[in-house]
Formats: sequence, structure tokens, C-alpha cells
Amino acid sequence: MRNVFWKNIRNNMNMQKTDNSKKQKSDSGSIWNPWHGCHKISPGCQNCYVYRRDESIGKDASIVTKTGDFYLPLKKNRQKEYKLQPQNGSVFTCMTSDFFLEEADEWRPECWRMIRERSDLRFAIITKRIHRFMECIPDDWGEGYPNVSVYCTVENQQMADYRLPIYLELPIRHKHICHEPMLGPINIEPYLATGKIEYVLCGGESGEQARPCHYQWILDTRDQCIKYHVPFHFKQTGTFFVMNGKTYHIKRWLQQSQAAKAGIDYDGGKE
Ligand code: SF4
Repeated sequence: MRNVFWKNIRNNMNMQKTDNSKKQKSDSGSIWNPWHGCHKISPGCQNCYVYRRDESIGKDASIVTKTGDFYLPLKKNRQKEYKLQPQNGSVFTCMTSDFFLEEADEWRPECWRMIRERSDLRFAIITKRIHRFMECIPDDWGEGYPNVSVYCTVENQQMADYRLPIYLELPIRHKHICHEPMLGPINIEPYLATGKIEYVLCGGESGEQARPCHYQWILDTRDQCIKYHVPFHFKQTGTFFVMNGKTYHIKRWLQQSQAAKAGIDYDGGKE
């Protein structure tokens, strides 16, 4: 069944290839979780993996606490070298919480200091709280630290039309849109047309309660990105992936590799 599924995807893509479509290497990197725990804020949070994972070990994910990794960007190994090195890719920050959560207001300034000190690293912050951004930045932020990318999560059209107008006006040097989990078709053309978006990422929802992700939604977003020469990455299928009217159940450990097999990443048409 799975082989047929990917054969269908490949055939589908063969019909849709454009001259400027090229494979783009997936972003990879390290994870820095300075605090843990969060609060559900929008539809994308419904089946939050932090809540699912914490529940499975009897922990309350709504309690926000600093972690033992709070100072990770400054930590060194026995050779007195930093543990986090630029050659290992972006540092994905706050993956079991939200960097702009209210409870973290008093901890965040210290994180900004570390981010500034490690100007050799590129930090990636993914948030559903872009509306809090201006109250959370340090005094010397200016037009944005050059080593920080902020991913604005928009899981459906409603969130896109609420968050993206705010996001586009913010002083952020590297603006990325994250459709994950993607819950429906999303028109972001007016936002891409501004030329302010550097990158778009799409993915389905994981877990057995996941809502389905339709391949056509992913392809539509990809087409929008191609139209405006914005790099696009299909990160993962999610658990229930719908293609040509059929729903496929994809195991967790295959969701990223199967998305990669579709071969639909796009690098913005750069040579
Ligand atoms: S913002 Fe992210 S971490 Fe927080 S509840 Fe929602 S999905 Fe979970």
C-alpha cells in the first residue's frame, strides 16, 4: 500500500514539475529548550505534542518551568569548546513551549543576552504568540538581531489573516511562515507578495488523534511560493495524509522521510 502511495505522489509530481523547481536541503540543527510547558492558544494547539508527551508520563504540561538546559548556548565541553556549534545548523529554540509565553517574561532577557553573545549561531524561534513580540524584545534589538529567524505559525486561514499582518510589520530580519499543523488550504499570496517572507514550511499533524492533512493543500502553498520565488519546504506528512481522495496512515518515524520522498521542496529559484 505504501509503495503505491509514493508511486502516486511521484507520478503526481512528475505532472506538476516546473522548470524552476529544485530540491532544497531540509533545515536541520540543534534544540535548545530553556523552559518547558505551555498553554493552548489556537486551533493548532488542540493535539499539542508537548501535552501528549507529558500526559504519557503523568506530567502537567501547563506548568511552565525553566529547564536544566537554560544556559545551553554558553555550555562548553571538556575541550572548552561550545557544545552548540554553527556547523551543526540552526538552534531551534523553545520546542516544548513558546518563546513569547507570559510566564517566561522574566527569564527571556537572559536568553536574549545569550543569543547576542553567540552571534556565530543562528537561532530559530517558532511561535504562535507573534502578537506579544514587541513587548518581549530587548532594548538593543533595533531592526532585529541578524542571527535570529522568527517562524510565525499559521495553521489555518483565520490565523494567517490575524497573525501575518502583525508579523509583516515587525522588526525581524528573517521572517518565516510555518503551516504546521496545516489544517486547511491557506492563501498567503498577499503576504508573500510583500517580498518580506524568506521561507515557508508545511507539515501535517502527528499523533493518533491528528486531523488529516491534504496533499493538495501542500501543493497549493508550494505553487504560491513558486509564484513569488519564496523557498518552500514540505517537512512532514502528519499521521493521516490525504491524496487523491484516499487517507493514508503514516507511522511517526516515516512522516519526515516520506515527505522528503515527495521531492517537492523549492529553493526560491536561485542558481
Ligand atoms: S503554542 Fe505550541 S507548545 Fe504551546 S500549546 Fe500550542 S502547540 Fe503546544
